[in-house]
Amino acid sequence: MKVILFGPPGAGKGTQAALIRDHYAIPHISTGDIFREAIRNETELGKQVKSILDSGELVSDQIVVDLVAEELKKEEYRNGYILDGFPRTVGQAEAFDRILQSRNDSIDAFMSLEVPREELTRRILSRGEGRTDDTPEGVEKRLQVYENETRPVKEFYEKQGRVREIDGVGTIEEIFGRIRDTLDQLK
Ligand code: AMP
Repeated sequence: MKVILFGPPGAGKGTQAALIRDHYAIPHISTGDIFREAIRNETELGKQVKSILDSGELVSDQIVVDLVAEELKKEEYRNGYILDGFPRTVGQAEAFDRILQSRNDSIDAFMSLEVPREELTRRILSRGEGRTDDTPEGVEKRLQVYENETRPVKEFYEKQGRVREIDGVGTIEEIFGRIRDTLDQLK
């Protein structure tokens, strides 16, 4: 099963992706986690992207697409994966589509977690993960970038008829229950 988990910052993508990973035994790829780890390990990539993550802006499409294309070559993703935080621009979605097509492959679902904006800010500021971009200004910036650059990605997949909207308000278990109902229909 190949799934894109989509939604604004604070929608709970990381939490739900981990639950999907454990329940369906498919690996989780979070581009944000990959960048944060590179920053922690002070790799070349980490040095390249640190100030971008701190500012709440997006890393360039080229860097992200190359990174995901490379990652997906690994054997562990052969039978499926959950993508969290990618694609985040229409350019990334188009590039990802070309990569999949060249492998005669496609995704099974694009799941969009729907959460009202007031709830997003509240959740991010109260989650206390200690992320350097989780300041009131950082959150505002990421929500703005989401509206301008990322929301159109959903329209891109709507045109392909792949979008499944998930109500992202409720307890973690309730939301995961909705995701499971959706994914079980795909099997
Ligand atoms: P996340 O953990 O998904 O919220 O990502 C944290 C930060 O990593 C974002 O604010 C971006 O700076 C960067 N990032 C993660 N994924 C992408 C992506 N697909 N395209 C561009 N930047 C990304």
